Amino acid sequence: MAEFVRVAETEDLLDRVTVFRAGMEPVALDLMEMELFRRGLTPADIRAHERSRRATAIMLPDGTALRCNFCSRPAVLRRWAWHRLFGRIPVFPRVFAYCPAHGGKSSA
Ligand SMILES: [Zn+2]
Repeated sequence: MAEFVRVAETEDLLDRVTVFRAGMEPVALDLMEMELFRRGLTPADIRAHERSRRATAIMLPDGTALRCNFCSRPAVLRRWAWHRLFGRIPVFPRVFAYCPAHGGKSSA
């Protein structure tokens, strides 16, 4: 865990201590917050990140954000699409969650 925290992207750590906080171990949260402070972020920076995420993220009843199906970022859009076998053959429709990087902002 400590090694993961050292190499993780700052955005990933910020997501984990804010919108994914309810799903994290207390020890892991301590490590991640210490790493963020070591990188020069302040508690105000973390609160600002949480505010901007909550403004767009889809929050679940357990208090954590819905994750994108294609990465670990919070999803901002849910829509129906075909589940594809081998990435090509449509098998059945299902709901996918998308972050902005994976199409969450597109209207298609
Ligand atoms: Zn994504």
